[in-house]
Amino acid sequence: MTDCLIIGGGAIGMLTALELHKHGLSVSLLDRGATGQEASWAGGGILSPLYPWRYEDAVTQLARWSQAQFPEFFQFLADNTGIDPEYSRNGFLILGETDAPQASAWATQHGYLMQEVDAQQILELEPRINTQHLDTGLYFPEVGQVRNPRLVKALRQALENAENIQIHEYTEARRLIISDNKIHGVETPDSKLLAEHVVIAAGAWSARLLKELDLEISVTPVRGQMIMYQSEPDFVRRILLAHNRYIIPRQDGRVLIGSTLEQAGFNKITTEQALQDLQQTAKSLIPDINHFRVEKHWAGLRPSSPNSVPYIGQYPGISGLYLNTGHFRNGIVLSLASARLLCDLILQRPPIFDPIPYAIGSQRSASGTFA
Ligand SMILES: Cc1cc2nc3c(=O)[nH]c(=O)nc-3n(C[C@H](O)[C@H](O)[C@H](O)COP(=O)(O)OP(=O)(O)OC[C@H]3O[C@@H](n4cnc5c(N)ncnc54)[C@H](O)[C@@H]3O)c2cc1C
Repeated sequence: MTDCLIIGGGAIGMLTALELHKHGLSVSLLDRGATGQEASWAGGGILSPLYPWRYEDAVTQLARWSQAQFPEFFQFLADNTGIDPEYSRNGFLILGETDAPQASAWATQHGYLMQEVDAQQILELEPRINTQHLDTGLYFPEVGQVRNPRLVKALRQALENAENIQIHEYTEARRLIISDNKIHGVETPDSKLLAEHVVIAAGAWSARLLKELDLEISVTPVRGQMIMYQSEPDFVRRILLAHNRYIIPRQDGRVLIGSTLEQAGFNKITTEQALQDLQQTAKSLIPDINHFRVEKHWAGLRPSSPNSVPYIGQYPGISGLYLNTGHFRNGIVLSLASARLLCDLILQRPPIFDPIPYAIGSQRSASGTFA
């Protein structure tokens, strides 16, 4: 019997496993496929919510804590695994925004550096931008990014390097084993895995396991499609955001354009329409991108939750059953704090901050999202 069984090997599950292991627990992690191949692979890796001042403080709090830990954590990950997740603080330029006063008040309140910029300053930061319809912006110089496929690969390697973490890939959790209001483990197609604590970190699929037992949370899949151009290093240097679409330059010159927001159930196909829309976004913002070709087009399923506030904590009334899920568009930027907070709760030590906003239950039932 293991101390803790984690269902789901995305960034959230893998980081939760590492955090629990760091504090001395034996951990098993299972994924129905290979680890790190779903949303955590597909995402953009921007280490900030997109229009951060529009989120609840509960989201900002997780982001702020994680952002403070990222430099040290990513360095540890690269040193420990030999896989560089390509963390860089290359700045975040949000174009064409009209709510500068709210953004400025929010930045001051939460201690973020933010600068309002005009067309000339935008061009100084990013000479290739077409400022014709985008002549104002907000610049967050400290915001960074990480390269998702490299991140999940490094996390997988860190799990392997750790003693006392068992990885079960291609092993689906079919059913939670619960009796007398206590979790005992999970059934897989071939066996039962028993554990003192079970954490559901199954991303967009998290609600399914609970539903079978008439337990409910509001986590649903929202498809996001992205495209990637093969350009040159420094073709674009900063993360750009305009009209809800973003451009992310990677260190090797690849440039990601994202992303769509679609209710398509658990269907991960890519569409011609999205390809055209994303290309149009890219060309209108950076006309020179026309010189390059689209190298890749993919989709992932985000785990959405009410108000984008993840569920972190124990499932009410079932001893030993925990959730760490529902990070929607912000699973990477919220990840470190989310893993740490859940670990604090499992180990019953003083939490990094008040867990009530993330609790499963009371405050969400008021809005009808929890039964
Ligand atoms: C296009 C796109 C762009 C994004 N951009 C950003 C961004 O820039 N910044 C940011 O912070 N976030 C971003 N996100 C969001 C972020 O990627 C997600 O919030 C995050 O990856 C969720 O992580 P997760 O571990 O919960 O889920 P996932 O990575 O989806 O992992 C869940 C895992 O659970 C496994 N699983 C499911 N059911 C079972 C079961 N029954 N048994 C065993 N295993 C199971 C799956 O196989 C999967 O491996 C983006 C997402 C998308 C799709």
